[in-house]
Amino acid sequence: FIDFHQVSKRFGDNVVLDDLSFGVANGERVTLIGPSGSGKTTILRMLMTLTKPDSGTIAIDDEYLWHERRGDELVPAGEAHTRKVRSRVTMVFQQFNLFPNMKVLRNITEAPVHVLGTPKDEAEARARDLLEMVGLQSKADFYPSQLSGGQQQRVAIARALAVEPDILLLDEVTSALDPEIAAEVLDVLRDVAKTSDVTMLLVTHAMRFARDVSNRVLMFNEGKIIEDAPPEQMFNEPQHERTRGFLRSVL
Ligand code: ATP
Repeated sequence: FIDFHQVSKRFGDNVVLDDLSFGVANGERVTLIGPSGSGKTTILRMLMTLTKPDSGTIAIDDEYLWHERRGDELVPAGEAHTRKVRSRVTMVFQQFNLFPNMKVLRNITEAPVHVLGTPKDEAEARARDLLEMVGLQSKADFYPSQLSGGQQQRVAIARALAVEPDILLLDEVTSALDPEIAAEVLDVLRDVAKTSDVTMLLVTHAMRFARDVSNRVLMFNEGKIIEDAPPEQMFNEPQHERTRGFLRSVL
């Protein structure tokens, strides 16, 4: 599970997250929605340890990302501890971020081989399975620049899954793509949602995708969660006036 407890973050005068607490159970697929600047990406970046909270704690399965237990006390964690807890989390970005100088197969095997110590043969066999899953088995020996945006994003998803993460973070993974191409990527993610029990947190403005893939939607506004509901309820009968306004503007 993921547990955010009284997390706050500001950049200068801009309060991005305001004493935020929420939990996500293992295997849940949660979409974060809300207006631009409401703190959604910041949540994902914190789980990826790319951004550090000013206060509060974030735990993954009883281990804190930035703290360690010493007796009854919580003390700031060392880098090795943070890295270990974070190793169960992977993220797919809007701009794919593949390694441009590595072929597709190597992009996928790099972390398993060099971070997890998986034998190369094993990592390559699994990478080929993942490429098949995303419909790109014929592209193993291509460089990222030889692929379309949608294909690159599918490789990025395969790469994120190659380390067998417990938590998969998806940050507007279709926003840089034409709608038709985005649909290919969404199909792949629907498959992932159906066939794996990875916990997913996604930020997206594509509400149909949120509806199809997630089983819970959190509505953010000004650094707080103002509504937390299954997609049917969030999209059909939003309770909060601010949610209704937001959904009118995006649907
Ligand atoms: P969007 O839907 O536009 O991606 P969001 O809800 O994901 O928005 P965040 O990306 O989490 O919002 O950003 C929240 C606020 O924090 C924004 O106002 C943003 O400008 C600000 N912010 C984020 N990172 C930094 C940074 N490194 N330095 C200064 N301000 C930042």
